[in-house]
Amino acid sequence: MTRNAPIRTAACGCGDFRLTLEGEPILVSACCCTRCQRRTGSFFGVTAYFRPDQLTARAGPSATFQAPGGQTTRHFCPRCGSSLMWGSPEWPDVIGVAGGAFADPTLPGPHRVTHHATAHPFVPTPDGVPVYEDAPPEVE
Ligand SMILES: [Zn+2]
Ligand SMILES: [Zn+2]
Repeated sequence: MTRNAPIRTAACGCGDFRLTLEGEPILVSACCCTRCQRRTGSFFGVTAYFRPDQLTARAGPSATFQAPGGQTTRHFCPRCGSSLMWGSPEWPDVIGVAGGAFADPTLPGPHRVTHHATAHPFVPTPDGVPVYEDAPPEVE
């Protein structure tokens, strides 16, 4: 990792489950699909994708959930329920981390918006980023 690479901690709502990530995310994606809406209780989900070797520390217990018919395994805090990290065997070279879990305004904003077809009309899209009506062509 290069010198001066940022080191950030993503934490669940109660703080028990924590991840330390070194370096900038390789991609930040905002997703407006209905699964992300239900998963987050918000109007869209934000995933910061990292390479697995950027995850330099992990603390606290986690539990996992795999949605029926899906390949993505979600790791969440068994105490407070916050989902913090996910991965899929389809994309072994990346891990997804909940963008909001960093609570860090220096985290880069979304590089793209996906599943815009199911976005609420009042949700703005960032200027100058690709907007996909459905799934993007690469990592979802
Ligand atoms: Zn927690
Ligand atoms: Zn989604």
